[in-house]
Amino acid sequence: MNNNKALQGGCLCGSIRYRIESKPLFVNHCHCQQCRRHSGAVFMTHMGIPVEDFSWLKGEPTYWHSKVMDRGFCANCGSTISALYHDEPGIIVMPLGTLDDADKIKPAYHIMTEYQISWLNIVDELPRHARLSPGYEHLDEGL
Ligand SMILES: [Zn+2]
Ligand SMILES: [Zn+2]
Repeated sequence: MNNNKALQGGCLCGSIRYRIESKPLFVNHCHCQQCRRHSGAVFMTHMGIPVEDFSWLKGEPTYWHSKVMDRGFCANCGSTISALYHDEPGIIVMPLGTLDDADKIKPAYHIMTEYQISWLNIVDELPRHARLSPGYEHLDEGL
C-alpha cells in the first residue's frame, strides 16, 4: 500500500507513535469487562492489524501480561495502546480511538454484547455478537 494510505496514531502524550500499512482485518466494538477496565470506557473499539503491516514509529508500550493477552499502555500518560493475543501472534489489536484520524476506519460489528452496559443504548445497525468475533471464536475470552 502506498504511503498516502498509511494510517498513523499514538498515545495522548505523544511518547508512542505508530503506523499501519494495510486495512484492518477486523474492526469492532467490544463490550467485555476486561476492555472496559483496560480503557476506562464502557466499551472499546478495536482494529485487528496484521503485525507485518504495523510498525512503531516512536516509543513502545509497556505491557501487562494477562492469561490470554498482553495489554499495552503508555508508561508516561497511561493511554491504552495495543493488545496482543497469545493465540493469535500474527495480529496486533489497536484501539481505534488512538488514530490521528479515527473517522477513516469504521467498525463493522459489536462483540461480547452479552456484557454490554444496560444503560448504553446503541442505535446503529451493525451486527451484534454475544461473544467473540466471527472467525476468532477459538480465542479465550478470559482476561
Ligand atoms: Zn503517552
Ligand atoms: Zn473486550
